[in-house]
Amino acid sequence: MYRLRLHPYERPFRQPLQTHHGPWTRRRGILLQLTDAQQRQGFGEIAPLPEFGSESLEAALDVCQRFQGCLTDADILNLPDTYPACQFALESAREALVNPSDAPPPPAAYCHLLPSGEAALQQLETTPSQYWGPSPSFKWKIAIADLDQEQHWFGQLLSRLPAASQLRLDANAGLTWEEAQQWLAACDGHPIEYLEQPLPVKDREGLLALQQQGLVTIALDESVANLWDLQDWLKQGWPGIFIIKAAIIGSPRRLRQLCREFQPDLVFSSVFETAIGRQAALRLAAELQQKPRALGFGVGSWFNETDEAFVEHQLARN
Ligand SMILES: [Mg+2]
Repeated sequence: MYRLRLHPYERPFRQPLQTHHGPWTRRRGILLQLTDAQQRQGFGEIAPLPEFGSESLEAALDVCQRFQGCLTDADILNLPDTYPACQFALESAREALVNPSDAPPPPAAYCHLLPSGEAALQQLETTPSQYWGPSPSFKWKIAIADLDQEQHWFGQLLSRLPAASQLRLDANAGLTWEEAQQWLAACDGHPIEYLEQPLPVKDREGLLALQQQGLVTIALDESVANLWDLQDWLKQGWPGIFIIKAAIIGSPRRLRQLCREFQPDLVFSSVFETAIGRQAALRLAAELQQKPRALGFGVGSWFNETDEAFVEHQLARN
């Protein structure tokens, strides 16, 4: 039996994040604290992303409040699949309680998320290249502005990347087949690590056909936002990369089982969770990510306060 405390939070971005899904101005979530009979504590974080098919913050809060501050292992392990962000939070809090010293090893590298559109150029211009470290990895959102305009910026962006950089492009499912072809052509000969979710989730044939063209590696993100869809694509033998947003994918136990069975090429990625969710996601990444790819957690500069300071304030507040 565990005691459960909930700490809902709200955290504004320093500037709105523009994606094909629209602007995003603040991260809302819930920090949760489990305490067992021996007074051992474990923290978890619910950081939902309903645009990616997770439960809403309101639904998450509602299901957690139904426990009335008290729950069992069975409650945690039998949470319905309609609450993937809660599954992740409660299971990882339970794991942290049992293995308190299980800190993740520092990852090899983070991928830096650039501001969308033309603002990326300015950021590269004004940031000293030493800041990014050797062989840096960057991500830039596309499918937000007019295609010709974006490809013009893309050309400038390539010329401003520090030496030995790798670039990831993320379309958030926002391209048509023809636009995707234009992007693949524009990527030719440049250090593009992969193109993330070029086409809508429902266009499975299109996504497979783009990957089979072999020009640029395709990564699935929105297509594999939950364990069922991930399992589906794994069974089909998707030859590209899978982006894993651990905080919304669901049960870490079941993710481990799938990875043991299929050994997929994964890149773990942030949903702008705080240090608590991130630690749990990084622990999974250290365990499950097979290839040495930069982790998609280079998002610290999107908030004013550091993650650790923010968490401390939230937990002290209520
Ligand atoms: Mg993405």
